[in-house]
Amino acid sequence: MHPQSWKISLLSAACGVLLAPVAAQVPAAEPPGSADLHARIDQLADVVEPEVIANRRYLHQHPELSNREFETEKFLVKQLKALGYEVQSGIAHTGVVAVLRGGKPGPVVALRSDMDALPVAEEVDLPFKSTVRSTYDGKDVGVMHACGHDAHMGVLLGVAHIFAQLKDQLPGTVKLIFQPAEEGTPKGEQGGAELMVKEGVLTADPKPEVIFGLHVLTKFETGQLAYRAGAIWASADDFTVVVHGKQTHGAMPWNGIDPIVIAAQIVMGLQTITSRQMDLTKAPVVVTVGKFDAGVRNNIIPDTATLKGTLRALDETMRQQLHDDVQRTATNIAAASGATVDVDIGSESAYPVTYNDPKLTARMLPTLKRVGGDGLLETAPLMGAEDFSFFQQKIPGLYVFIGVRKPGASQDEYAPNHSPRFKVDETGLKLAVRTLANLTVDYMSGAAAGAGAGGLQ
Ligand SMILES: [Zn+2]
Ligand SMILES: [Zn+2]
Repeated sequence: MHPQSWKISLLSAACGVLLAPVAAQVPAAEPPGSADLHARIDQLADVVEPEVIANRRYLHQHPELSNREFETEKFLVKQLKALGYEVQSGIAHTGVVAVLRGGKPGPVVALRSDMDALPVAEEVDLPFKSTVRSTYDGKDVGVMHACGHDAHMGVLLGVAHIFAQLKDQLPGTVKLIFQPAEEGTPKGEQGGAELMVKEGVLTADPKPEVIFGLHVLTKFETGQLAYRAGAIWASADDFTVVVHGKQTHGAMPWNGIDPIVIAAQIVMGLQTITSRQMDLTKAPVVVTVGKFDAGVRNNIIPDTATLKGTLRALDETMRQQLHDDVQRTATNIAAASGATVDVDIGSESAYPVTYNDPKLTARMLPTLKRVGGDGLLETAPLMGAEDFSFFQQKIPGLYVFIGVRKPGASQDEYAPNHSPRFKVDETGLKLAVRTLANLTVDYMSGAAAGAGAGGLQ
């Protein structure tokens, strides 16, 4: 752990001391879920805000790549233990699960933050800019929290602190899930949400009923809270098509089978899946070939050509149809010219659709309205992807977006996620804290009031 982390830990401890008297000044909230409890959350969100930002900055300066979040894990464990949580670490390599049992009976609610950074060299000039370097895919790379997962961890630690203060009034149990490797694992490794689910994070005691998560995006302005029932992120499946032809002299193509021309036909053929084969009134799909690799010199027709791409869908049935269509289109175009293909789909990454349970979304909409106010908006789905979807395949989940672009600022200044110029307007993080904390207590209170524990039937 970097020495500076101790400073932040001390700062957090100081906040803890500071919090106690503040919390004590607030009248006891009766019944739970009442306006009093909401007011206390808002008040505590103000108090923890500096700590959220400080923790986020520390993590920003110390980013780690997917499945390598070792120091991040230690940092989280230390903070969560200090707040009185039951903490388990080493889940799905470096994942951390922290549980707080409230003073009143009620359902178990899971909240999730991702943990990993990206192989991106930071170009933003900040006092806490990352200068970390590491190795990715055999190459020396800069490492940066260019997707804002540092902010997510800071936010969830802030929420953890609020619940530690409200423990006695909490009508249920919170299970905080800090998840490694959202951005994908190094080659040949398992990880991320899929592995956490396999390791039983949603089935082990205490077993959560629902899960909430969010992402900070510079697509939205600070103060904006964007939601959508149903698909909010797409599925993402990588694919590879290897065309097997027959090598020959470039001057006499009739003596061989040219895989480059066939692969070019396949590129065009794949586009007709989107334009001619999918029911686009249902949902859009995207087929992108991002890599075309073949040949060594001008006058040799090679044996093989390789295409690599990504498939995006917003509906699991259409996703499966895409897989079948890619396989059939590539196989038959190749066969028309006497070539064969090997088609691989999803062996490098295969994320399901991030699907907000419509009943859960409807149930939590009053909370989103109250917390988001004028900043609440219903968003169109985004064609990016998230492995939060693996949690949602097991239990109902709701996932929202939080704006972190200064109002009026351009996306040149606040570049999109994954850019080396990605920047977070930290004043937007308090809304993220309030959103997660309020969703949790309102779900719990609703269950206590008879909306039904497991009441999503
Ligand atoms: Zn990302
Ligand atoms: Zn992300």
